[in-house]
Amino acid sequence: MARIVMKFGGTSMAGTERIRRVARIVQRQQAAGHEVAVVVSAMAGETDRLVNFAREANPLYDPAEYDVVVASGEQVTSGLLAMHLQALGCKARSWLGWQVPIKTDDAHAKARIEDIDAGALMASMASGEIAVIPGFQGVSPAGRVTTLGRGGSDTSAVAVAAAVKADRCDIYTDVDGVYTTDPRIVAKARKLKNVTYEEMLELASVGSKVLQTRSVSLAMKEGVRVQVLSSFIDDDAPAADTIPGTMIVSDEELEGLDMERQLITGIAADKNEAKITLTRIADRPGAVAAIFGPLAAANINVDMIIQNIAKDRGETDVTFTVPLADLARTQALLEERKDTIGYYRMLANSKVAKISVVGVGMRSHAGVAATMFRALADRGINIQAITTSEIKVSVLIDEDETELAVRVLHTAYEMDGE
Ligand code: ADP
Ligand code: ASP
Ligand code: MG
Repeated sequence: MARIVMKFGGTSMAGTERIRRVARIVQRQQAAGHEVAVVVSAMAGETDRLVNFAREANPLYDPAEYDVVVASGEQVTSGLLAMHLQALGCKARSWLGWQVPIKTDDAHAKARIEDIDAGALMASMASGEIAVIPGFQGVSPAGRVTTLGRGGSDTSAVAVAAAVKADRCDIYTDVDGVYTTDPRIVAKARKLKNVTYEEMLELASVGSKVLQTRSVSLAMKEGVRVQVLSSFIDDDAPAADTIPGTMIVSDEELEGLDMERQLITGIAADKNEAKITLTRIADRPGAVAAIFGPLAAANINVDMIIQNIAKDRGETDVTFTVPLADLARTQALLEERKDTIGYYRMLANSKVAKISVVGVGMRSHAGVAATMFRALADRGINIQAITTSEIKVSVLIDEDETELAVRVLHTAYEMDGE
C-alpha cells in the first residue's frame, strides 16, 4: 500500500464527463489499496475568466479581493469531484484551503505556502476517505483567502504530498509527460523519460508551464517523487504505477539511468514578460537602486536587466523585463517616481517573448550560446536582450517570432524526433 497525491489540471477537470473520468482514475488507485488525496485545478479557462472580471473591476485591483475571486474556480471543481466520487460509491470529501489549513504568507496573488497542518487530512485518508483539495488556494496569517500564482495547483499538490509524506505525487495533465519543448508548438518534440529536478526547475522558470516553478523547487527541497502523466487514458489503462509518464529524478539517479546525457534537455518560450526601458538615467551610484528598490518592495520580480552606458553623456539607458501581469503596476510605480529616479522617458513593450535553452550538459560544453545566436540570425530573428546561467541561455525576441524561434532551435540542437 502506498500513499499517493494525485493532481488533475484544468483540461482534465473541464466539464462533467471529464470529471467523471478523473473520478474513475482516482477510484482505481484507491481500489489498488492506496491512500489517496486529490488536488484539483479549476476548469480550463475558468481562472482566466475570473482574472478578467477582476481587471474589468479595477486594473489596479486589490490583490486580496482578486484572490477571493480567482480562488473560486477550484472550490467548484473540488466539490464536484467529491460528488462524482461519492456517486461511484467512494467515501470522499472536499477540504478547502482554509479548512486543511494550507497556511501561506500574505503576498496575495503569489502567496507562498508556509505550513500545512496535515493531521486531520491524514486521519481522514487513513479512514479510507478520499480527500479532495482545491489547488491554488491557501489562507493568510490574517485568515484571508490567498492564491499561489498562476499554475499554482502543482505547488499545492507537491506541498500536500510533502505534508502527508506521500510516496508519490502524480501530476495528471493534458500531455503524457515532459517533452523537449512544448509539443503543441513543435510536433517533433520528444518525450523525456526522466528529467532532473534542477533541469525541470530551470525549464519551468523560463516558461515550460507543464509544472509551476515553485512546485519543482519544493519537490526538490522536500524530496517528493513527482511524475507527470496524462489523464486522457482509457478505463482499462494500466494503473499509474506502470503508465510511462516523465519521472523527475535526482542527478545521481539519472546518472544511473542514462549514461549518454544530452547536451540540451529542453527549450522553453515565455510570452508573459514585458520589456521596460528608462532612458537617460544619471550614471551614478544609487541610480539603479532607485528603480529596483520600489519594484522589489511592491513584490514585482524583475528578470532580465541591461544597462547601456553612454560614456560621453554620463547617462545610461536601463532596460529590464517584468511579468506581463505586473506591467501596469510597474508603470504606475515608475511614473510616480519619475523625479526621484530622474529618467527622461519610459518605453514599454508587451509584445516580447523570452526563448531559453536549458541543459546541464552546458556546464562542460562551450558554444551553446553561439549556436543559438547563429541559428536565430540565419532566420533574421533579432535579439533584444540576453541572460545566461550555468545551465541556461535566454534571449528576448519579438513575440510574433516565438514559434519560429523554438522550431529553429529545436532543429539546430538536433533534438527533433520522428
Ligand atoms: P494543467 O491544466 O494540467 O496544469 P498546463 O496547461 O498548466 O496543464 O500544462 C500542460 C501544458 O504545458 C501542455 O498542454 C503543453 O502545451 C505545455 N507545455 C509547455 N512546455 C512543455 C513541455 N516541455 N513538455 C510538455 N508540455 C509542455
Ligand atoms: N487554476 C489556476 C490557474 O489557472 C491554478 C492551476 O490551474 O494550477 O492558474
Ligand atoms: Mg498547470
